[in-house]
Amino acid sequence: MIIDAHVHIGNSFWGNFTPEFLLGIIGDKVCVCSNLAAIDAYTGKDEYVANKEMLDASAKYPQIKPLYVCEVDRSLDTNIIRQMLKDYPQFVGLKFHPEFTKLTATSDKYDKYLEVARQFKKPCLYHSGHTKSRFSSPALIYQKAKQFPDVPIILGHLSTGPRSSHDEAAKIIVESIEQDTATLYVDVSWVDVEDVIMLIEALKNTSKGDYTHRIMWASDAPVGDHNLKKELYDSNLNVFKTRILEYFNDEELLNNLLYSNAQKLFNL
Ligand SMILES: [Zn+2]
Repeated sequence: MIIDAHVHIGNSFWGNFTPEFLLGIIGDKVCVCSNLAAIDAYTGKDEYVANKEMLDASAKYPQIKPLYVCEVDRSLDTNIIRQMLKDYPQFVGLKFHPEFTKLTATSDKYDKYLEVARQFKKPCLYHSGHTKSRFSSPALIYQKAKQFPDVPIILGHLSTGPRSSHDEAAKIIVESIEQDTATLYVDVSWVDVEDVIMLIEALKNTSKGDYTHRIMWASDAPVGDHNLKKELYDSNLNVFKTRILEYFNDEELLNNLLYSNAQKLFNL
């Protein structure tokens, strides 16, 4: 089995992605999916409508596991999400995009949603941006994660930018483990496999032991040219598998990255 821990459907700035289009690229994998139409405020749909659309896609294709997109920048009505999570326990987590919505990750506005995540015991996937970003840098997300240390917060893409940016994000995750300040997870969509190796090394050898269960393989498909065709997606996944096996010679580690870690975190 393989779980892609970060994919999308929806009509938005990034393109118009139907569930069928997504599945045409990722095949029969299980995936953790959010609706871009709720993230992009220009083409954006209201929170209830967009998340209902996500549920409908998941009902049609049960391999698609829905995330609830929180429109924190536009709505502060958490009654909607509370009702939705109560009525539809199939939502596996919450999704936040501080960069696209230009709402800095440390804003108090996130608190009401994070309290919901805590109440319903759902992990939260953040777009984690460049270390210099004023909205979505891993350091800003970490600051908020420290206020909710019992809520699993996923740094989606680790961080954007070059190796130095990935390196800094990995250091933040290690600090959170060593100092027991937050529960940070990470998905490695868009991260070069050599930097994933660096991340694995860092989390494998913390003073608290091996924390590589916090790392999940993901693609962010269909976002990005490298994710728009099945052949490219398959070839990227193959490079990942080959390189991780070659470097660590550890089949169990690879399987954990490819599905077990996501399976446990999202209760799949
Ligand atoms: Zn994404």
